[in-house]
Amino acid sequence: MGKQTMIKTILSDSPYTDANQSDDFLEIEIKGLGTLAEQGDGRTVLVEFYDDKWWVRVWADINQEDPTHIIDMSRALEHNRDIPNLEPTHYNCCQAPRDLGHMFGCPNNSENAGES
Ligand SMILES: [Zn+2]
Repeated sequence: MGKQTMIKTILSDSPYTDANQSDDFLEIEIKGLGTLAEQGDGRTVLVEFYDDKWWVRVWADINQEDPTHIIDMSRALEHNRDIPNLEPTHYNCCQAPRDLGHMFGCPNNSENAGES
């Protein structure tokens, strides 16, 4: 008995005629899962480009006609990536700039304030 294929992807043409939509329309069949409309091997996950956005629609409840999860993937767009500021520009203790501050110790530290 070899390994069994449990998942199948169906890449088909988009049902939308609008030129702004993607031509790709991805459905995922998972063995043993069904939808209200399809018995067994139901297409329970759908990825589509619609209305200028990528969407993932999931039918996680076999007794529900509408998708249980509709995910707008817009926040995953590369241009939304936050560039982490790896070099802090200010000290956390007093917000003094890193390149100038703490020459005479932290102004927020009372021990250092007394020495000046
Ligand atoms: Zn400080």
